[in-house]
Amino acid sequence: MSVLCRADETQSASWARYFEAEAPDIAFRVWPDAGDLAEVEYLIAWRWPPEFLKSLPNLKVLLSVSAGVDHLDVSTVPAHVQIARMIEPGMQDAMAEYVAMAVLALHRDLPHYLTCQAERRWAPLPLRPAGERSVGVMGLGVLGRAALARLAPFGFRLSGWSRSAKTIAGVTCYAGDVGLSPFLAGCDILICLLPLTEATRGILGQPLFDALPRGASVINAGRGGHLDEAALLAALDGGQLSSAILDVCDPEPPRPDDRLWRHPKILLTPHIASMALASTAAPILLQNILRHRKGEPLLGRVDRTLGY
Ligand code: NAP
Repeated sequence: MSVLCRADETQSASWARYFEAEAPDIAFRVWPDAGDLAEVEYLIAWRWPPEFLKSLPNLKVLLSVSAGVDHLDVSTVPAHVQIARMIEPGMQDAMAEYVAMAVLALHRDLPHYLTCQAERRWAPLPLRPAGERSVGVMGLGVLGRAALARLAPFGFRLSGWSRSAKTIAGVTCYAGDVGLSPFLAGCDILICLLPLTEATRGILGQPLFDALPRGASVINAGRGGHLDEAALLAALDGGQLSSAILDVCDPEPPRPDDRLWRHPKILLTPHIASMALASTAAPILLQNILRHRKGEPLLGRVDRTLGY
């Protein structure tokens, strides 16, 4: 049995050292030094050539290095191979931090003040207490919950929306299609932390923007495919939305002439909200392999039917 790692060079080297120290009985190989491919039962990877999986006849588990699996064509992964996405504390911390930064920037009108500074204009806006601001998170999974927990001490009115019903202390929870409109109606700041699936592609579009209170703001830290960019620009230009913070877009980076680069109401970051940290992800990878060997359910197992 061996584990093959076909990921970023630095991450791979760090995980190889961790496995050598903590699980010396497991043969941990780093691509391209793969050894006998017939021995590979676990593959840790991000992307690979289309035919690559066919060369691993005894593959049992695919451990994705990313939190989302939207970049994978799961139909090319044999049905008996379990797929797990990355769930690790460093990634949750980083996303919670990014969301806190973005929410506070919008709450304290940072896009307005950046424009004012560029124009040498001294134009204070009235202060609004956090308790009078509603912040809603779409997607109450690992990252959505981490973000809400980090926001709680600021005193915002918090809400969340997911596919299946949830109960979270201090958060008004909505679920499914019927819950979407009432959820949106109460969001001054909306954060997208959904996985990208057939059901969620383009969800940040005109109908959704129209269902938000006039002047609301949007943060997209999910995937670029969630956003209808033309609808966002129209909503910002027409005043339905006051500002947006985007960590993701499609394509990445935007084309040179894309308005995302220079729109005064948009803050753009280059897909840096969060990523797997080699140090905190290593124990999770080992834990998942050991869980599988003991016949226990994988952490972050992907449901192929739901697509996340
Ligand atoms: P997760 O644990 O799988 O949670 C996904 C949440 O979305 C769940 O609450 C799920 O509902 C909900 N959901 C899925 N489909 C839905 C639908 N059709 N309608 C309503 N709710 C739906 O995922 P996660 O670990 O929190 O990660 C979320 C996403 O963040 C990733 O897929 C990735 O796209 C993005 N991400 C971005 C970055 C970045 O740097 N910008 C980094 C990491 C991840 P249920 O609870 O009912 O299943």
